[in-house]
Amino acid sequence: MQVFELGRLEFDVRGRGHSTIVDLESKRCTCRVFDIDRIPCAHAIAASWLTKIDIYDLCSEYYSAISWCMAYSETVYPVPEENEWPRNINFPLVLPHLVEKRVGRRKQNRIPSIGEFSKT
Ligand SMILES: [Zn+2]
Repeated sequence: MQVFELGRLEFDVRGRGHSTIVDLESKRCTCRVFDIDRIPCAHAIAASWLTKIDIYDLCSEYYSAISWCMAYSETVYPVPEENEWPRNINFPLVLPHLVEKRVGRRKQNRIPSIGEFSKT
């Protein structure tokens, strides 16, 4: 991948015919993997090599050993077998939404997302 510096911590990362914008300060990338998984994507890792930022510092605190220990600090009880589940619970009846039928022809082409290229 080729990395081009745009700002202090913003980069244009190019590879395999695609260009993505990485912001290491806000921990975002236009590929959205970094935004959603909160773990640096390949583009963010490539950009971090240019800045010498440790990639482990770019990971969310959710993936830290401290967070893992806190998640399991209390007792986790096993779920009983299905035949032991309580049967006398009255769940509310959930019905599907009422949908109005739209007039006219349905849209054929989907609007591409950010960072996605249309085939035309
Ligand atoms: Zn990315």
